[in-house]
Amino acid sequence: MKSRIWLSLAHMSGREQEFIQEAFDTNWVVPLGPNVNAFEKSLRDFLIGDGGLQIENEGMRIVALSAGTAALHLGLILLGVQPGDEVICQSFTFAASANPIAYLEATPVFVDSEKETWNMDPVLLEEAIKERLEKTGKLPKAIIPVHLYGMPGKMDEVMEVANCYGIPVLEDSAEALGSEYKGRKCGTFGEYGVLSFNGNKMITTSGGGALICPNEEKAKRALFYATQAREQAPHYQHEKIGYNYRMSNICAGIGRGQMFVLDEHVTRRRAIHDLYVKLLAGVKGVKVMCQPEGEGFNSNYWLTCITVEPEEAGFTREDVRLALDEENIESRPLWKPMHLQPVFKDAPYYGNGTSERLFEIGLCLPSGPTLTDEDVERVTKVVKQLSDFRF
Ligand SMILES: *Cc1c(COP(=O)(O)O)cnc(C)c1O
Repeated sequence: MKSRIWLSLAHMSGREQEFIQEAFDTNWVVPLGPNVNAFEKSLRDFLIGDGGLQIENEGMRIVALSAGTAALHLGLILLGVQPGDEVICQSFTFAASANPIAYLEATPVFVDSEKETWNMDPVLLEEAIKERLEKTGKLPKAIIPVHLYGMPGKMDEVMEVANCYGIPVLEDSAEALGSEYKGRKCGTFGEYGVLSFNGNKMITTSGGGALICPNEEKAKRALFYATQAREQAPHYQHEKIGYNYRMSNICAGIGRGQMFVLDEHVTRRRAIHDLYVKLLAGVKGVKVMCQPEGEGFNSNYWLTCITVEPEEAGFTREDVRLALDEENIESRPLWKPMHLQPVFKDAPYYGNGTSERLFEIGLCLPSGPTLTDEDVERVTKVVKQLSDFRF
């Protein structure tokens, strides 16, 4: 049996253990400490970059947390989401984007994607806002757009609609660390942004996430809720419900080490995507998802995705998945849209069929930074063989 090719594996810089050792040596084995502070600072430097955006984002602060899901939850709390409120969420996403809405007993309102980036359709977004206002007499409390598979969404248009109605944006950038839109890093467009450092994301802390906050004051508020909402008093005083969401100093040590390979990971994932494009060119009915040209989209290509049009290709997405599995290669259908999930079946939905179709014909291919060019060739050979068999 040939060795297994996985969808997305973590890859270490080699320096992670130094920072973990330092934490042990100095007895900072707690959910705060020097690694947490340094990791947050390093993320902030990365997100702000050295371009002209430095001034605009001067106040930006990062709060490292136990998971991206925790960051989404805290983001919604800081935006004042209450039971009975409505929150607009991209339907085409991982359940973690939407679950925190339910934690707060608010109602998700799902909005479909446009075809170019597979992310929130700004036209449908506006339709949804107008109709919710008409039906409920209230505006949705927040909007959660996602940069799926690292592809930046149409943030100019989404922000324009959001600003027009004065609805704050909580940007789910869990898959998009290192992606840019018009020279600006994903995660920095909304009032708050979310990152994930789960095992298969751009960088890992074994498990973890971060909330990108607009200023020090909001970051302090996030920290307050992340550490059990302890009021200032010599005893333990509580006036709000808090959470235990802070990142551990050990995990942050892994994160610090990972920051040394983040740029390398982005470069490698983009190169893997380019190789897929090259090797799959000319395979009938199979298309590699590519960013729109010339509009400032710069995806990290966290995962390279293909669509398989069965009429044209002569085989289906499922045929490809099973053929890859036969060759010991992991692949996965695109996210099943939230409006099709049994758990969200009663939620309002504004759609045009885009994400439903993508779920039927789309597949994520192995894309991790540990993948070799030969691995990519092994994957594409399977797809080509299906095609050759047909024609
Ligand atoms: C991974 C992911 C999350 C959640 O992050 P965790 O760190 O796993 O909690 C949220 N949204 C999207 C789109 C994700 O892919």
